Amino acid sequence: MATIEKIFPHIYAVPLGYVNAFLLADEDGLTLIDAGLRGNERRIWKAVARIKRKPADVRHVLVTHHHSDHVGSLAAVTKAGGAETYVHPLDAPIVAGEKPRPAANRASVTGRLLGRIIMRLPANKPAAVAADHEINDGDELAMGGGLRVIHTPGHTAGHVSFFAEGHGGVLFAGDAVGNVLGRIGKPLLMFTEDMEEAKASMRKLAELEFDTACFGHGKVLKGKANVAFRRYVEKMAR
Ligand SMILES: [Zn+2]
Ligand SMILES: [Zn+2]
Repeated sequence: MATIEKIFPHIYAVPLGYVNAFLLADEDGLTLIDAGLRGNERRIWKAVARIKRKPADVRHVLVTHHHSDHVGSLAAVTKAGGAETYVHPLDAPIVAGEKPRPAANRASVTGRLLGRIIMRLPANKPAAVAADHEINDGDELAMGGGLRVIHTPGHTAGHVSFFAEGHGGVLFAGDAVGNVLGRIGKPLLMFTEDMEEAKASMRKLAELEFDTACFGHGKVLKGKANVAFRRYVEKMAR
């Protein structure tokens, strides 16, 4: 597996097994979107070294949502590099360990059968991190060349996506939408807190103009990515 994939000259995907993180470079340093699974910090530092930067260059870590495959190495990354963390207020107490992780969705058969066991796995118990900053819908962040926060609840209540102008628009969808097995689709029901809300968030994202979409799971979608989103949302409505 590649250590790092250049999407645009200042935007990189960092594949971490079945989940992705992203690195955005600007003159101040690096911004990391999501922090993979527990123990992924070495792979993240390898990716950082590949673009000739150091751990301390990672100034900001933006968290799409509280799931352990997105905050697994958050504590390790911030400890080593001193980066500040950004989380939506609805997910922040879970990331901070002040509130328990919600149980698997019982509307899912797998969730009913295996949810408890899965939630108890050590991999699903990432070290707690208190967020330095809260991020809310519509916030304009200066780092990474400029990012707009889009609240996309449903997968989790505090799930956010990030939108970058330029290059025809680049969306960092997190788990609001997946691109597993080469097609975009809904997030996994078992790990989605409210599927109706998740669908509304997909519709919200489909209204944006973007050529490129980056996902927590699956390959980057390049070229008229929002057309694929719109098609999926229309299909969902039928
Ligand atoms: Zn998730
Ligand atoms: Zn995920």
